Amino acid sequence: HAKDYGIDVRHFVPSMQRKAKERLKLENDLRKALERREFYLEYQPLVSLENCEIVGMEALLRWRHPKRGNVSPQEFIPLAEESGLIVQLGEWVLRTACKQNKTWQDAGYKPICVSINLSMRQFLQPHLADRIGQILQEIGLEPKYVELEITESMTFDKETAFEQLRRLKELGVFISIDDFGTGYSSLHYLKSMPIDRLKIDRSFVNEVMSDHNDAAIVSTITSMAHHLQLKVTAEGVENEEQLHFLREQRCHEGQGYYFSKPVPPADFEKTFLLH
Ligand code: C2E
Ligand code: CA
Ligand code: CA
Ligand code: CA
Repeated sequence: HAKDYGIDVRHFVPSMQRKAKERLKLENDLRKALERREFYLEYQPLVSLENCEIVGMEALLRWRHPKRGNVSPQEFIPLAEESGLIVQLGEWVLRTACKQNKTWQDAGYKPICVSINLSMRQFLQPHLADRIGQILQEIGLEPKYVELEITESMTFDKETAFEQLRRLKELGVFISIDDFGTGYSSLHYLKSMPIDRLKIDRSFVNEVMSDHNDAAIVSTITSMAHHLQLKVTAEGVENEEQLHFLREQRCHEGQGYYFSKPVPPADFEKTFLLH
Protein backbone atom coordinates (compact mmCIF):
# COMPACT_ATOMS: atom_id res chain seq x y z
CA HIS A 1 0.00 0.00 0.00
CA ALA A 2 1.21 3.47 -0.90
CA LYS A 3 0.01 4.55 2.56
CA ASP A 4 2.59 2.26 4.19
CA TYR A 5 5.37 4.19 2.49
CA GLY A 6 3.99 7.50 3.65
CA ILE A 7 2.96 8.49 0.14
CA ASP A 8 -0.18 10.59 -0.05
CA VAL A 9 -2.25 8.88 -2.73
CA ARG A 10 -4.54 11.86 -3.17
CA HIS A 11 -1.53 13.84 -4.30
CA PHE A 12 0.50 11.09 -5.94
CA VAL A 13 -2.02 9.94 -8.57
CA PRO A 14 -2.98 13.34 -10.01
CA SER A 15 0.65 14.41 -10.17
CA MET A 16 1.52 11.23 -12.07
CA GLN A 17 -1.32 11.88 -14.46
CA ARG A 18 -0.13 15.42 -14.97
CA LYS A 19 3.39 14.20 -15.77
CA ALA A 20 2.08 11.62 -18.24
CA LYS A 21 -0.07 14.27 -19.90
CA GLU A 22 2.83 16.71 -20.19
CA ARG A 23 4.91 13.99 -21.76
CA LEU A 24 2.23 13.20 -24.30
CA LYS A 25 1.90 16.86 -25.16
CA LEU A 26 5.65 17.21 -25.63
CA GLU A 27 5.69 14.12 -27.82
CA ASN A 28 2.95 15.63 -30.01
CA ASP A 29 4.86 18.90 -30.26
CA LEU A 30 7.96 16.95 -31.20
CA ARG A 31 6.13 15.33 -34.08
CA LYS A 32 5.35 18.73 -35.60
CA ALA A 33 8.68 20.34 -34.79
CA LEU A 34 10.54 19.07 -37.83
CA GLU A 35 8.21 20.60 -40.43
CA ARG A 36 7.88 23.73 -38.30
CA ARG A 37 11.66 24.09 -38.47
CA GLU A 38 12.13 24.31 -34.72
CA PHE A 39 15.33 22.25 -34.72
CA TYR A 40 18.82 23.57 -35.28
CA LEU A 41 22.37 22.42 -34.65
CA GLU A 42 25.18 23.78 -32.54
CA TYR A 43 28.79 22.77 -32.94
CA GLN A 44 31.44 22.17 -30.28
CA PRO A 45 35.13 22.09 -31.24
CA LEU A 46 37.30 18.99 -30.83
CA VAL A 47 40.82 20.09 -30.05
CA SER A 48 44.14 18.34 -30.55
CA LEU A 49 45.89 18.28 -27.16
CA GLU A 50 49.26 18.15 -28.85
CA ASN A 51 49.07 21.52 -30.59
CA CYS A 52 45.65 22.92 -29.58
CA GLU A 53 44.46 22.94 -33.20
CA ILE A 54 40.78 22.41 -34.01
CA VAL A 55 40.54 18.98 -35.63
CA GLY A 56 36.82 18.47 -35.57
CA MET A 57 33.42 19.47 -34.28
CA GLU A 58 30.53 17.63 -32.69
CA ALA A 59 27.06 18.46 -33.99
CA LEU A 60 24.56 18.81 -31.13
CA LEU A 61 20.82 18.97 -31.70
CA ARG A 62 18.75 21.83 -30.29
CA TRP A 63 14.98 22.26 -30.12
CA ARG A 64 13.51 25.73 -29.78
CA HIS A 65 10.00 25.05 -28.50
CA PRO A 66 7.57 27.87 -29.40
CA LYS A 67 6.17 28.07 -25.83
CA ARG A 68 8.72 26.43 -23.57
CA GLY A 69 11.85 27.82 -25.14
CA ASN A 70 14.84 25.52 -25.53
CA VAL A 71 14.20 21.94 -24.43
CA SER A 72 17.24 19.86 -23.45
CA PRO A 73 18.16 16.95 -25.74
CA GLN A 74 18.36 14.89 -22.54
CA GLU A 75 14.59 15.38 -22.35
CA PHE A 76 13.43 15.13 -25.97
CA ILE A 77 15.85 12.57 -27.48
CA PRO A 78 14.41 9.73 -25.35
CA LEU A 79 10.89 10.78 -26.45
CA ALA A 80 11.95 10.84 -30.09
CA GLU A 81 13.56 7.46 -29.59
CA GLU A 82 10.43 5.88 -28.07
CA SER A 83 8.09 7.28 -30.70
CA GLY A 84 10.37 6.22 -33.55
CA LEU A 85 10.67 9.82 -34.71
CA ILE A 86 14.40 9.69 -34.07
CA VAL A 87 15.03 7.93 -37.38
CA GLN A 88 13.71 10.88 -39.38
CA LEU A 89 15.18 13.42 -36.98
CA GLY A 90 18.55 11.67 -36.96
CA GLU A 91 18.64 11.80 -40.72
CA TRP A 92 17.91 15.52 -40.61
CA VAL A 93 20.86 15.97 -38.21
CA LEU A 94 23.14 13.94 -40.45
CA ARG A 95 22.14 15.82 -43.58
CA THR A 96 22.34 19.26 -41.96
CA ALA A 97 25.72 18.66 -40.31
CA CYS A 98 27.25 17.18 -43.47
CA LYS A 99 25.91 20.02 -45.62
CA GLN A 100 27.38 22.53 -43.18
CA ASN A 101 30.75 20.83 -43.29
CA LYS A 102 30.70 20.76 -47.10
CA THR A 103 29.71 24.45 -47.28
CA TRP A 104 32.70 25.38 -45.11
CA GLN A 105 35.05 23.25 -47.18
CA ASP A 106 33.78 24.88 -50.37
CA ALA A 107 34.34 28.30 -48.80
CA GLY A 108 38.02 27.40 -48.56
CA TYR A 109 38.42 26.64 -44.86
CA LYS A 110 40.82 23.94 -43.78
CA PRO A 111 38.75 20.71 -43.76
CA ILE A 112 37.76 19.22 -40.42
CA CYS A 113 35.73 16.18 -39.42
CA VAL A 114 32.14 16.44 -38.17
CA SER A 115 31.01 14.06 -35.41
CA ILE A 116 27.37 13.01 -35.33
CA ASN A 117 25.54 11.17 -32.55
CA LEU A 118 23.60 8.08 -33.58
CA SER A 119 20.76 6.74 -31.49
CA MET A 120 20.04 3.07 -30.92
CA ARG A 121 17.08 2.96 -33.32
CA GLN A 122 19.12 4.54 -36.09
CA PHE A 123 21.99 2.18 -35.51
CA LEU A 124 19.67 -0.82 -35.77
CA GLN A 125 18.31 0.21 -39.19
CA PRO A 126 19.34 -2.47 -41.65
CA HIS A 127 20.16 -0.08 -44.51
CA LEU A 128 21.84 2.64 -42.46
CA ALA A 129 25.18 2.47 -44.26
CA ASP A 130 23.56 2.61 -47.73
CA ARG A 131 21.43 5.53 -46.64
CA ILE A 132 24.39 7.47 -45.25
CA GLY A 133 26.36 6.66 -48.40
CA GLN A 134 23.54 8.11 -50.53
CA ILE A 135 23.33 11.27 -48.45
CA LEU A 136 27.09 11.86 -48.56
CA GLN A 137 27.12 11.36 -52.31
CA GLU A 138 24.21 13.76 -52.76
CA ILE A 139 25.97 16.41 -50.69
CA GLY A 140 29.39 15.70 -52.13
CA LEU A 141 31.16 15.28 -48.79
CA GLU A 142 33.94 12.71 -48.52
CA PRO A 143 33.24 10.05 -45.84
CA LYS A 144 36.61 10.70 -44.18
CA TYR A 145 35.18 13.99 -42.89
CA VAL A 146 32.42 12.22 -40.97
CA GLU A 147 32.59 10.45 -37.62
CA LEU A 148 29.64 8.60 -36.12
CA GLU A 149 29.32 8.34 -32.34
CA ILE A 150 27.66 5.27 -30.88
CA THR A 151 27.45 4.15 -27.25
CA GLU A 152 28.58 0.93 -25.64
CA SER A 153 25.00 -0.27 -25.17
CA MET A 154 24.50 -0.33 -28.94
CA THR A 155 27.06 -3.09 -29.24
CA PHE A 156 25.05 -5.32 -26.92
CA ASP A 157 23.99 -7.61 -29.75
CA LYS A 158 27.50 -8.31 -30.89
CA GLU A 159 26.72 -9.93 -34.25
CA THR A 160 24.37 -7.18 -35.42
CA ALA A 161 26.68 -4.42 -34.21
CA PHE A 162 29.72 -5.97 -35.82
CA GLU A 163 27.98 -6.30 -39.18
CA GLN A 164 26.65 -2.75 -39.03
CA LEU A 165 30.05 -1.32 -38.08
CA ARG A 166 31.73 -3.28 -40.83
CA ARG A 167 29.38 -1.75 -43.41
CA LEU A 168 29.92 1.76 -42.05
CA LYS A 169 33.70 1.31 -42.08
CA GLU A 170 33.48 0.04 -45.64
CA LEU A 171 31.77 3.31 -46.50
CA GLY A 172 34.81 5.13 -45.13
CA VAL A 173 33.40 7.02 -42.13
CA PHE A 174 35.01 6.95 -38.68
CA ILE A 175 33.39 5.38 -35.63
CA SER A 176 33.78 6.42 -32.02
CA ILE A 177 32.40 5.02 -28.79
CA ASP A 178 30.74 7.86 -26.88
CA ASP A 179 30.46 8.12 -23.08
CA PHE A 180 33.05 5.38 -22.81
CA GLY A 181 33.23 3.77 -19.38
CA THR A 182 29.60 4.32 -18.41
CA GLY A 183 28.06 1.44 -20.34
CA TYR A 184 28.27 -2.27 -19.77
CA SER A 185 31.89 -3.04 -20.39
CA SER A 186 33.15 -5.89 -22.41
CA LEU A 187 36.80 -5.53 -23.29
CA HIS A 188 36.20 -8.32 -25.73
CA TYR A 189 34.33 -6.16 -28.24
CA LEU A 190 36.96 -3.46 -28.02
CA LYS A 191 39.56 -5.64 -29.60
CA SER A 192 37.26 -7.16 -32.21
CA MET A 193 34.96 -4.28 -33.23
CA PRO A 194 36.04 -2.08 -36.14
CA ILE A 195 36.10 1.24 -34.25
CA ASP A 196 38.49 4.20 -34.37
CA ARG A 197 38.09 6.17 -31.16
CA LEU A 198 37.03 6.14 -27.52
CA LYS A 199 35.49 9.22 -25.96
CA ILE A 200 36.05 9.12 -22.22
CA ASP A 201 32.84 10.13 -20.47
CA ARG A 202 32.94 13.51 -18.83
CA SER A 203 31.91 12.12 -15.44
CA PHE A 204 35.46 10.70 -15.14
CA VAL A 205 37.23 13.75 -16.54
CA ASN A 206 35.30 16.04 -14.22
CA GLU A 207 36.92 14.86 -10.98
CA VAL A 208 40.25 13.86 -12.40
CA MET A 209 42.15 16.34 -10.18
CA SER A 210 40.30 15.55 -6.96
CA ASP A 211 39.45 11.86 -7.19
CA HIS A 212 42.27 9.29 -7.39
CA ASN A 213 39.92 6.66 -8.76
CA ASP A 214 38.77 8.86 -11.62
CA ALA A 215 42.38 9.76 -12.41
CA ALA A 216 43.22 6.05 -12.49
CA ILE A 217 40.27 5.31 -14.77
CA VAL A 218 41.14 8.08 -17.24
CA SER A 219 44.76 7.07 -17.29
CA THR A 220 43.87 3.39 -17.79
CA ILE A 221 41.41 4.04 -20.61
CA THR A 222 43.94 6.29 -22.35
CA SER A 223 46.74 3.79 -22.11
CA MET A 224 44.46 0.96 -23.24
CA ALA A 225 43.42 3.02 -26.26
CA HIS A 226 47.08 3.53 -27.14
CA HIS A 227 47.77 -0.19 -26.91
CA LEU A 228 44.75 -1.02 -29.06
CA GLN A 229 45.80 1.68 -31.54
CA LEU A 230 42.61 3.62 -31.03
CA LYS A 231 42.34 7.39 -30.82
CA VAL A 232 41.13 8.78 -27.52
CA THR A 233 39.19 11.96 -26.71
CA ALA A 234 38.39 13.34 -23.27
CA GLU A 235 34.95 14.90 -22.90
CA GLY A 236 34.08 17.66 -20.45
CA VAL A 237 37.48 19.37 -20.18
CA GLU A 238 36.69 22.42 -18.09
CA ASN A 239 40.01 23.75 -16.78
CA GLU A 240 43.73 23.96 -17.35
CA GLU A 241 44.65 21.42 -14.66
CA GLN A 242 42.55 18.78 -16.38
CA LEU A 243 44.15 19.70 -19.68
CA HIS A 244 47.64 19.23 -18.18
CA PHE A 245 46.71 15.87 -16.73
CA LEU A 246 45.28 14.69 -20.06
CA ARG A 247 48.36 15.87 -21.93
CA GLU A 248 50.58 13.93 -19.54
CA GLN A 249 48.53 10.84 -20.28
CA ARG A 250 49.02 11.49 -24.00
CA CYS A 251 45.30 11.72 -24.59
CA HIS A 252 44.90 12.77 -28.24
CA GLU A 253 41.98 15.16 -28.17
CA GLY A 254 39.81 17.17 -25.81
CA GLN A 255 36.32 18.63 -25.86
CA GLY A 256 34.74 20.82 -23.24
CA TYR A 257 33.87 24.24 -21.88
CA TYR A 258 37.58 25.05 -21.37
CA PHE A 259 37.86 25.29 -25.16
CA SER A 260 34.28 26.28 -25.91
CA LYS A 261 30.69 25.39 -25.23
CA PRO A 262 28.62 24.30 -28.26
CA VAL A 263 27.92 27.37 -30.44
CA PRO A 264 25.75 28.25 -33.48
CA PRO A 265 27.35 27.77 -36.93
CA ALA A 266 28.09 31.47 -37.53
CA ASP A 267 30.05 31.70 -34.25
CA PHE A 268 31.88 28.47 -34.95
CA GLU A 269 32.95 29.73 -38.36
CA LYS A 270 34.11 33.08 -36.99
CA THR A 271 35.96 31.71 -33.96
CA PHE A 272 37.41 28.36 -34.97
CA LEU A 273 37.74 27.87 -38.72
CA LEU A 274 41.06 28.59 -40.40
CA HIS A 275 41.88 29.29 -44.03
P1 C2E B 1 26.92 13.77 -25.65
O1 C2E B 1 26.91 13.13 -26.99
O2 C2E B 1 27.75 13.13 -24.60
O3 C2E B 1 27.31 15.29 -25.90
C1 C2E B 1 28.10 16.03 -25.02
C2 C2E B 1 27.25 16.83 -24.06
O4 C2E B 1 28.08 17.39 -23.05
C3 C2E B 1 26.55 18.02 -24.73
O5 C2E B 1 25.32 18.22 -24.05
C4 C2E B 1 27.52 19.16 -24.42
O6 C2E B 1 26.91 20.43 -24.44
C5 C2E B 1 27.97 18.78 -23.03
N1 C2E B 1 29.30 19.31 -22.71
C6 C2E B 1 30.33 19.53 -23.54
N2 C2E B 1 31.41 19.98 -22.87
C7 C2E B 1 31.05 20.06 -21.56
C8 C2E B 1 31.76 20.49 -20.36
O7 C2E B 1 32.92 20.88 -20.37
N3 C2E B 1 31.05 20.43 -19.19
C9 C2E B 1 29.75 20.00 -19.15
N4 C2E B 1 29.14 19.98 -17.96
N5 C2E B 1 29.07 19.61 -20.26
C10 C2E B 1 29.72 19.65 -21.46
P2 C2E B 1 23.95 18.43 -24.84
O8 C2E B 1 24.18 19.23 -26.06
O9 C2E B 1 22.94 18.90 -23.84
O10 C2E B 1 23.56 16.96 -25.31
C11 C2E B 1 23.23 15.98 -24.39
C12 C2E B 1 23.13 14.63 -25.06
O11 C2E B 1 22.03 14.57 -25.97
C13 C2E B 1 24.36 14.27 -25.89
O12 C2E B 1 25.40 13.83 -25.05
C14 C2E B 1 23.78 13.17 -26.77
O13 C2E B 1 23.73 11.94 -26.07
C15 C2E B 1 22.36 13.66 -27.00
N6 C2E B 1 22.32 14.32 -28.32
C16 C2E B 1 22.60 15.60 -28.67
N7 C2E B 1 22.43 15.79 -30.01
C17 C2E B 1 22.05 14.59 -30.52
C18 C2E B 1 21.71 14.12 -31.85
O14 C2E B 1 21.78 14.84 -32.86
N8 C2E B 1 21.34 12.81 -31.95
C19 C2E B 1 21.29 11.97 -30.87
N9 C2E B 1 20.91 10.68 -31.07
N10 C2E B 1 21.61 12.37 -29.64
C20 C2E B 1 21.98 13.67 -29.45
CA1 CA C 1 28.46 12.56 -28.36
CA1 CA D 1 29.50 11.90 -24.66
CA1 CA E 1 25.65 10.86 -24.39
